[in-house]
Amino acid sequence: MDLKRVSLLLEDWGEPSYRGRQAYDAATRGLVADWGEATALPASLRRRLQSEAPLRELTAAETQESRDGTLKVRFATADGFPLEAVAMRHRNRRTVCVSSQSGCPLACTFCATGSMGLGRNLTIGEIAEQVLVLASMLRDRGERVNNLVMMGMGEPFLNYDAVLGACRMLNDPAGFGLGARQMAISTAGWVPGIERLAAEPIQVKLALSLHAPNDRLRTELMPVTKRYPLARLMAACRSYRAATRRRIFVEYLMLDGVNDADGLAVELADLLGREGFHVNLIAYNPTGSPYRASPPDRVAAFAALLESRGVSASYRRSHGQDIDAACGQLAVRGAAELRRRRSQARRSVAGTRAAAPR
Ligand code: SAH
Repeated sequence: MDLKRVSLLLEDWGEPSYRGRQAYDAATRGLVADWGEATALPASLRRRLQSEAPLRELTAAETQESRDGTLKVRFATADGFPLEAVAMRHRNRRTVCVSSQSGCPLACTFCATGSMGLGRNLTIGEIAEQVLVLASMLRDRGERVNNLVMMGMGEPFLNYDAVLGACRMLNDPAGFGLGARQMAISTAGWVPGIERLAAEPIQVKLALSLHAPNDRLRTELMPVTKRYPLARLMAACRSYRAATRRRIFVEYLMLDGVNDADGLAVELADLLGREGFHVNLIAYNPTGSPYRASPPDRVAAFAALLESRGVSASYRRSHGQDIDAACGQLAVRGAAELRRRRSQARRSVAGTRAAAPR
């Protein structure tokens, strides 16, 4: 809930008007995990909140910490859908990476989440809660969240309203207070989302998973290309640039012998042009697919070709590989649970139909 809704609820219960702010403050700045810990509130109110508006909706099923300090939490929604969120702890910044959907329908061929199919969209609360839980885990270690990326499970623009709602909620200076420019939404190229984001007042960053510079290769890797070919995608990017004057961060996964040839670097540079984009070359993390990561000298040569053609490029190191927390590895183990949920949902629909009068 945002401050307005918390306040309305508590006023409804006959509480003085400052209680709403106190409750909201405890949840967003105090990062309490439970209303019982919100000691600014009277005990009776804490109990009532506990039973009628419980603070946490997600269950944290498992937490892992990798050798490099990356934290991963596997959650389940109240109705049993699996999702995961990760906190990456670089030397001087902490980036949390959260899920917008349980599973994903876009079926990119290299992505573990893509092989699960879609469970369901997450709500504003379920998205924001992942950030609050990771923030409190970081706080226990004397650290705070510097950046938020919507790069966990799911395609954020297929759940546009909840994703933007969560960004706005977390951005609220009276609450969690994370700067909009510290947030990035990553899309597989869902054009309507790019068009809508261009018109938003909130200045979150846009990242685009491109992975190939032509429709033929991109369709092979990312079936969403059939629906939104590169010509349309690039047109949407140009409008976004014109409307926002912000750079777009292009993610380009380096797949050995698939999309990492010199000729494709040239094609990519021609596609992007000399300004407006920054390319992050990403190391492929194994997910049991037939793909392999490009060797480091291939990545360096690809980056050098981009740079020589005026496209700025960098290489993104992977975090948390040993606990399957790296890009594209999320919730492989949740897959079985997700299938169970989906078939349960189908059975109960079928059951309702069977029971209905003819
Ligand atoms: N659906 C959104 C956000 C989630 S994926 C999107 O496509 O952008 C976040 C990033 O991880 C995307 O760039 C995705 O292509 C990349 N990714 C997926 N599987 C990966 C893997 N096995 N190794 C490295 N990156 C991967």
